[in-house]
Amino acid sequence: MAPTLYLVIPCYNEEQVLPVTSKLFLDKIMSLVNAGKIADTSRVCFINDGSRDKTMDIIRSLCSEDEHFAGISLAHNKGHQNALICGLMEVSDKCDMTISMDCDGQDDINAIDGMVDEYIKGAEIVFGVRSDRKTDTWFKRTTAQSYYKFLRFMGVDIIPDHADYRLMSSRALKALAGYSEVNVFLRGIIPQLGFKTAIVYYSRAERMAGSTHYPLKKMLSLAVDGITSFSIKPLRMITTLGMLIAILSFIGIIYIIVGAIIGNTAEGWASTTILLCFLSGIQMVSLGVIGEYIGKIYMETKRRPRYIVDEEINLPEDKE
Ligand code: UDP
Ligand code: MG
Repeated sequence: MAPTLYLVIPCYNEEQVLPVTSKLFLDKIMSLVNAGKIADTSRVCFINDGSRDKTMDIIRSLCSEDEHFAGISLAHNKGHQNALICGLMEVSDKCDMTISMDCDGQDDINAIDGMVDEYIKGAEIVFGVRSDRKTDTWFKRTTAQSYYKFLRFMGVDIIPDHADYRLMSSRALKALAGYSEVNVFLRGIIPQLGFKTAIVYYSRAERMAGSTHYPLKKMLSLAVDGITSFSIKPLRMITTLGMLIAILSFIGIIYIIVGAIIGNTAEGWASTTILLCFLSGIQMVSLGVIGEYIGKIYMETKRRPRYIVDEEINLPEDKE
């Protein structure tokens, strides 16, 4: 029997783009159903991430027009990663595989065929990887590339130029469910799951309408999350730096004492002030880095739910 595919598509204030892209998603699903590659029980499942515009009304009307559309609405805006997790977790028992993608048409819909083919050949996870970054600004391209290098240096296993466009089998999703941390950085967790994986290349288009929800501030916070959720190297680096400075200071102290004994007293003010500034700077940064980790621990110990579902439309009961 052909497998059931769910497209998991987070949407936040996307009233401008949803009417355009929803048709494309449905056409793709229907063409795969007609080709006999996936079952007719497949769905295009939108996750409304607490939108404040008409996004949910649009999802509701799509669901009433065609049973291949489904919707999950979150009670609050929880951010892209949590909306994605919600979608993946809520549908994992209803299908054989999911493909997560953005709703703005940036992820080339034709890569879905390749992903499904890889699944049929036996892959449990298929990563959509951008073949180029032509549609990005120079700034985004350069910062993204340096970020991937930095992450690797920090020991985080991440697939360059892969965002959240990927196929996951229900087995891989069950493994993902075991990662119950509140700070989720899917791009880092999923390569850790193991399983047989494959890559499908695609070129990323411009947004079809509306505007991005990832301004520089959110991009930076995702970047910091990526590092601190997977690596304690920054903490170790502080220790190493501390030790280095301690050794240097020790040498400096001996130099000063010897200088004082042989009567060669330093004039001193400038060097003292410089050292003071330098060291307090380093201390502040170090405290900040440690604080970042303590913040993470604080959030994790509270064990708060990652999302709260408000409404589900057109979703069948779980399998089994
Ligand atoms: N998104 C979301 N919650 C948010 C922000 C974004 O569900 O708080 C969704 C958004 O609707 C889109 C996807 O996440 O489907 C990626 O967002 P966007 O296109 O704004 O990011 P970009 O492609 O510019 O990085
Ligand atoms: Mg986008």
